[in-house]
Amino acid sequence: MRVRYRAQHPWWGRGIHLVRMLPEAQILDQGSNWDLDIEVKEDRQAVTITTTGKDIYDQTSVSAERMAFLHALFNMLSKIKGEPLSPWGVSTGIRPGKLAAELMVNDREEAVTELCHRWLMTPAKAQLLTATVANGYPLLQNKGLSIYISVPFCPSRCHYCSFASLPLAIWQRHLPRYVGQVARELAELLQSCQQLGYAVNSIYVGGGTPTALPPDLLAEMLAPAAHPGCEFTVEAGRPDTLTWDHISALEDVGVTRVSVNAQYPVAETLAAIGRQHSVQEFYTALDWALNSKIDIVNSDLIIGLPGETVQGFTGVLNTLAQAGVQNITLHALALKRGAKIHSHYLDPALAQEIAQAAYVWLDKEGYLPYYLYRQKNIASNLENVGFALPDSFCYYNIASIAEAEPVLGVGAGAVSKLVNGDGVELLNNPRDPNQYLQRRSSLVLRKLDWLSSNS
Ligand code: SF4
Repeated sequence: MRVRYRAQHPWWGRGIHLVRMLPEAQILDQGSNWDLDIEVKEDRQAVTITTTGKDIYDQTSVSAERMAFLHALFNMLSKIKGEPLSPWGVSTGIRPGKLAAELMVNDREEAVTELCHRWLMTPAKAQLLTATVANGYPLLQNKGLSIYISVPFCPSRCHYCSFASLPLAIWQRHLPRYVGQVARELAELLQSCQQLGYAVNSIYVGGGTPTALPPDLLAEMLAPAAHPGCEFTVEAGRPDTLTWDHISALEDVGVTRVSVNAQYPVAETLAAIGRQHSVQEFYTALDWALNSKIDIVNSDLIIGLPGETVQGFTGVLNTLAQAGVQNITLHALALKRGAKIHSHYLDPALAQEIAQAAYVWLDKEGYLPYYLYRQKNIASNLENVGFALPDSFCYYNIASIAEAEPVLGVGAGAVSKLVNGDGVELLNNPRDPNQYLQRRSSLVLRKLDWLSSNS
């Protein structure tokens, strides 16, 4: 559906978040080749919304107040869609965890009521959201920071990928230099943290696929952070990159969490999404991780892939739990601009049914939801939720989604989130490794300056 959205005042442009929830909405801000036109005008104390399309004409005036406007637009769009626009109500576009945490200062049930009445969430989403906050937020530290290390290389590109992921083969020759510079940046930041008295609460190595690096280079890159005395996570997302030598290297530097991602371990599904590894390779890599000295193993699953069924999905959950996986993260497929495919793989109703069955199954087996976030273009109006057995939550995930503390980004494509009070300043390392190598020194200096002026 092509939707033209015109808002007289930029403030009312926030309604665009809701418009995006119409099925397949393609937003235009001008032109006449549209299926639905939405016009928002402000006149004295009122805001008037007009929707026009084939067989559609509707107009509502409400007071010029943010929630009144969002409720009116939500209701008008729900009428057009023929069902409630989203179980997340009018919260789309804001961080749900932060919102719930603010509302939960006094009482969780009061917060659920507020989320349902004021934010129009369904009771099920409000309960899920507040449960993640109740489980995860108490772990947040009052001081200190986390470090994110980016390894933006993968052996090949999955069809749905929109992360910073570069073909390893092209960069092979440059890896020693790249790794040397990342290790240097890491050492400089860690030294500065120590001198200025910043506690390092967690270190997270993501990508790309960090284990796409050969074990010796991975060990060299992580050496400055060895045995940091805090949570230390490495993603080994693509099981075909992991070898026993990688596991040994990770054990040697004191890694405490590793992620080996299943996505949906069924041969036809892996082939359809361009994961160039077999189901057996996944289970072998998982087995190595589980039998290593690394304490906690996470596995990501994606809801919304071809070939998934409710029974198949809960069967995979059962296999992971029986194997001893302590963290299971459920992602809803989100197709961004960088992805090779642009249509949803799975019927939204089936995806929602799978998510619901998975949540019930995980709850029954003692896995607790502990962090939650939503992305733009997330399929089927779902959410990403991390589940874990008690005492095995990932601190980095909680702190970074909550924006509760600074995160220093290291390596190409890493984003530093310089949190100070309620403010967050973003500092992006360039995605291109060559540019990163050229600008590395100046970017490190900016981070060091920030650390010393905020210590
Ligand atoms: S493994 Fe992850 S980062 Fe790499 S191509 Fe696949 S989805 Fe992208």
